[in-house]
Amino acid sequence: MFESLSERLGGVFDRLKGRGALVEADVRTAMREVRIALLEADVALPVAREFVDKVTEQAVGQQVLRSITPGQQVVKIVHDALVEMLGPDTAELNLGVTPPAVIMLVGLQGSGKTTTTAKLAKLISKTQGKKVMMASLDVNRPAAQEQLAVLGTQTEVATLPIVQGQQPVEIAQRALSSAKLQGFDVIMLDTAGRLHVDQALMDEMKAVADIAKPQEILLVVDSLTGQDAVNVASSFGSQVPLTGVVLTRMDGDARGGAALSMRSVTGKPIKFAGMGEKLDQIEPFHPKRVAGRILG
Ligand code: GDP
Repeated sequence: MFESLSERLGGVFDRLKGRGALVEADVRTAMREVRIALLEADVALPVAREFVDKVTEQAVGQQVLRSITPGQQVVKIVHDALVEMLGPDTAELNLGVTPPAVIMLVGLQGSGKTTTTAKLAKLISKTQGKKVMMASLDVNRPAAQEQLAVLGTQTEVATLPIVQGQQPVEIAQRALSSAKLQGFDVIMLDTAGRLHVDQALMDEMKAVADIAKPQEILLVVDSLTGQDAVNVASSFGSQVPLTGVVLTRMDGDARGGAALSMRSVTGKPIKFAGMGEKLDQIEPFHPKRVAGRILG
């Protein structure tokens, strides 16, 4: 197990007892420990650096509170700054448009896009009573469209019938017109993923976004993504106007540092967390819980 930040900082601030304010040299020593804790939690290095610089500025000169030790005080400052950066608390989907609202999911292959598409479709149809249709635009992976159809059956959510040979833009157009005809409130578009970010994928994704004009473009990211998070977030974010992030596999061992990286690079809210393979295992993202988990 990792050592918690409070444990790490235990010794660092002992000698500070009795002083009135946090002095820069001590804060810098403590922040080295904070940086290590962030990196161990999978926060990308540039993001960890930027965060530490910001928090150092905030902490230096703060009066030491009587009720807690200086070490605890630094942990609190770091924790509060993390929560603020990870927020907002209630990130909702923007579905209040003339139907059909379009939600597009993008991300690397294996990030959990297809599963998340089905989970969100189920959530929206069950909790909001909306009529939802899912469509897979993944024509590269042979069984991708069938996989979504199977998930559609399991979740009792409609899927767009498969027409072999159609390209992603054509499928998106077909999804839009059939949703309009059949009175669907929401269309969920599951796009193709690649193992690495590549330009052909990006061009295809942009073309679909131009046609479908989604209200939501959600970047789906595996919470175990480490140093690659900055690259993933900035590549997708520079190509399409992301509206939020979904972090998957938060049920696993990941400490959740990818959340901070995503938030910092995209500037967009993390809206949901995937909590397992089952189709009801998705929940709103809780900044406080994740801040605690990052700090250990
Ligand atoms: P895609 O290639 O991005 O569409 O990824 P998939 O949706 O096919 O997911 C890849 C694997 O990750 C599948 O085995 C899913 O069951 C699993 N998966 C997706 N989300 C989660 C999650 O939140 N927790 C866990 N434990 N597994 C997940």
